[in-house]
Amino acid sequence: MKYKLITFDLDDTFWDIAPVIIKAERDTREWLRQKVGNIEWGSMSDFMGIREDLIKTMPSLEWDIGLLRKEIYKQKLKDIISDEAERNEIINTAYSMFLEKRHQVVFYDGVYDAIKDLSKNYHLGILTNGNADIFKYKIGKYFDFSLSSFDVKDNKPNKPHFVSAKNKYNDISFQEIIHIGDHQVNDVFGAHELGMKAVWFNNRNKEWEQSFGKPDEFAYWKDCIKLIEELNER
Ligand SMILES: [Mg+2]
Repeated sequence: MKYKLITFDLDDTFWDIAPVIIKAERDTREWLRQKVGNIEWGSMSDFMGIREDLIKTMPSLEWDIGLLRKEIYKQKLKDIISDEAERNEIINTAYSMFLEKRHQVVFYDGVYDAIKDLSKNYHLGILTNGNADIFKYKIGKYFDFSLSSFDVKDNKPNKPHFVSAKNKYNDISFQEIIHIGDHQVNDVFGAHELGMKAVWFNNRNKEWEQSFGKPDEFAYWKDCIKLIEELNER
């Protein structure tokens, strides 16, 4: 077998993430509203502004999205709840709620069967910039490891996710790894840069927008196995 390890992105690769985050956010805000009254959440650009300012004072928030979320809640609640202990308790509860709801995803058709099948012949791992935990799901048993941005203190397309995945094994080179993900830069560019085989999960019929060559792609998980077999024979 030419390839030994296959790594996968999670959000928008195993499931559609936007509706899940929107619902998690809405439900958490509603819980907070009931708990402390109205909070001025502001627009998306206000939110991005707060995020930028926070990252300036605490650069680790760039990859620690859990703490980033808590810091944003802290800012929003600081003038509403003066007691710090009480405020922190509410923030921690709200965050746990968000995180639990953020895991209420619907896997794309065929993911489970493809992963189960691939696990018979390959090592499998997860490389995510998000904070979903694959081991919370039944499918988790097929994976050797999962690395998030928090784990490696950086985001794809930078090297640490990919390098850490390779370093899990003594006898696997970058050329023996396939990385599958939906993001043209974070997944495809990042993996390609290190000499890994990048495969583009393109279920939305998107145009390829990068200046480097379009990689092999698939749109339905039922087609994944066949593509991997082809790659092994090339
Ligand atoms: Mg993704």
